[in-house]
Amino acid sequence: MDIGTLKGIGPKTEKILKSNGIMTIKDLVSYYPFRYDVIKRSNIDELLQDDKIIIDGIVESKPSVFFFNKKMNKMSFKFNIGNYLMNVVIFNRGFLKSKINPGVTLTLIGKFDKIHNTIVASDIRFSKLPNIPVIEPIYHQIGGISSNQIRGYINNIETLEVEEYVPEYLKEKYKLIEKKEAVINIHNPKSELDLRKSMAYLKYEELFLFMLKMNSLKKNKKNKIGLKREVDKSLVMEFIDKLPFKLTTDQMSAVDKIFEDLNSPNRMNRLVQGDVGSGKTIVAIIALYINYLSGYQGALMAPTEVLAHQHLLNLKNIFKNYNINIELLTGSLKVSEKKTIYKRLEKKQIDIIIGTHALISEDVNYNNLGLVITDEQHRFGVNQRSNLKNKGITPDILYLSATPIPRTYALTIYGDMDVSSIKTMPSGRKEIITSLKSNNDIKDVLELMYQEIKEKHKIYVIAPLIEESDKIDLENVNKLEEKMISAFGKVCKIGVMHGKMEKNEKDKVMEEFKNGDITILISTTVIEVGVDVKNATMMVIFDAYRFGLSQLHQLRGRVGRNDLQSYCVLISDREAERLNIMTQTTDGFKISEEDFKLRGSGDLFGVRQSGDMNFRLADFKKDFNILLRAKEDSNELLESGNINNYSNLMTLLNSAVNLD
Ligand code: ADP
Ligand code: MG
Repeated sequence: MDIGTLKGIGPKTEKILKSNGIMTIKDLVSYYPFRYDVIKRSNIDELLQDDKIIIDGIVESKPSVFFFNKKMNKMSFKFNIGNYLMNVVIFNRGFLKSKINPGVTLTLIGKFDKIHNTIVASDIRFSKLPNIPVIEPIYHQIGGISSNQIRGYINNIETLEVEEYVPEYLKEKYKLIEKKEAVINIHNPKSELDLRKSMAYLKYEELFLFMLKMNSLKKNKKNKIGLKREVDKSLVMEFIDKLPFKLTTDQMSAVDKIFEDLNSPNRMNRLVQGDVGSGKTIVAIIALYINYLSGYQGALMAPTEVLAHQHLLNLKNIFKNYNINIELLTGSLKVSEKKTIYKRLEKKQIDIIIGTHALISEDVNYNNLGLVITDEQHRFGVNQRSNLKNKGITPDILYLSATPIPRTYALTIYGDMDVSSIKTMPSGRKEIITSLKSNNDIKDVLELMYQEIKEKHKIYVIAPLIEESDKIDLENVNKLEEKMISAFGKVCKIGVMHGKMEKNEKDKVMEEFKNGDITILISTTVIEVGVDVKNATMMVIFDAYRFGLSQLHQLRGRVGRNDLQSYCVLISDREAERLNIMTQTTDGFKISEEDFKLRGSGDLFGVRQSGDMNFRLADFKKDFNILLRAKEDSNELLESGNINNYSNLMTLLNSAVNLD
């Protein structure tokens, strides 16, 4: 049922939910809490400074409300909890003022500021909470819709329809509960035991379906017929000889493999894995050239517009003496521009198309798509990739990934692909020197920056990462800009880039940083993936502790892209031990292993909810044993042929496999 039909959801909320992928009640039901708070009454005598507090009491004074601006306000009042009279402050609840009168009984949830005899409340409850511990689900907010609101909507659902995918015999094997019960309890657990049982079902189902798809893709691959091509290898070698640099051995062997794959009657399904800066792009370009020589269209999909645009410039440059039509298709083109591109693609007036998700939009019809390349593969989900594949008859597929995945995991996940690894860096590269500084050392950092500025090198300055809010991101960027202007405003030009900017603004800044006057580029992580500015030799990352190690590694890979000595400075007053790993190694595989040990998979695979491995509940690392069982179980089911008895599993697989 459409989410708009649910009680309590108005048109505005509906729109926000839908634009975040929650279209139906079913989608909402599978939006699970990311944690639970156990609510039980605090004993104030036992609490320490900043402890969490949940306490009943009686309002002792009329509240006063102070407005900072239209959106921000602070309310305070006195609160009697028996033996103590406390101050209470709570932000942005000014609208409750009229309900908070002396004598009213409340439950407050918040933080205890013992020193100031104050409760900094995060929530006020008027109806008395039960005295037994309550397990309260907490949801990630969705575009400003709070956890409380989400909980409310879910509680408004009257009839819950769930589709159970785990076959009965497997439910018995693992003593799993019914899915319906699991779903109800995940949103409203009565006890920790309930919650554990729910998790057990839901995690298993999630991993089982994932492995079932993977295993069946693998099975199908065995007899997949690809495109027929006959390409003259000497033409390819000629092209390679004309490149401005000599390919590394690993690049060359990846190219050889790709050439073989493309010319074989089987369909290519290959992953090129290589650390940041190892030179995967040129391998992709050569693949596109082979594909072009055999008369097919090629598509190159990148995760961001900045990166797509960079690829465009790069390809145009490399192919400048060839008569190859290359175009860009991204979401931010005007409708009319898009239409023109669609037409030209259909008529085969475009040989190579580069773009973002727009490449897989419904409206795109290729004339004879022969090769699809996905750059920074880990950023795309399975479905998006499958969609793109579906555009051609049976195009060959190449993925590029800089996220080094530890081998055991890679084999499980990418079991259906062939893998080429680029292990050696292009020659002449110097190891990036990485240091860790505290905010007190900022003078030293500025001094280092000045050295590079004098050399006419370029510098990235990365603003702290704040996951939840674009607004705070912007504030951070602006603060840094002030700092940099006061330090270097007189000696060089400073540019700014963040996610809120229009595409053409971003492109302009990027272009000016790459080839023009901008010497220092202050940015959020929008530059994180793939961006290539050769004479950038320094990166300064503020509040580095906010980033995962793999992400820092990706960021750091933006410098050290030629034979100049490059530097990376991490600024952080916290988590020195973890961050020190970055100063000790530039080996992406080592770093990802460490990350894996320290933080689990979420971080390893980049932005949450965009990669294959971002399960709703399961944690790739913590639940690896369940994954292995799911792998075996799904394989058995496929091998036995009994899978045909489960129509809902078949439907699921058919949609996955057809798209492939
Ligand atoms: P990534 O693997 O991170 O995508 P790129 O493909 O962007 O890396 O390559 C990084 C840089 O190295 C680019 O500037 C590219 O032109 C350069 N490069 C790639 N291969 C070689 C090579 N064999 N010799 C010298 N430079 C190379
Ligand atoms: Mg790249």
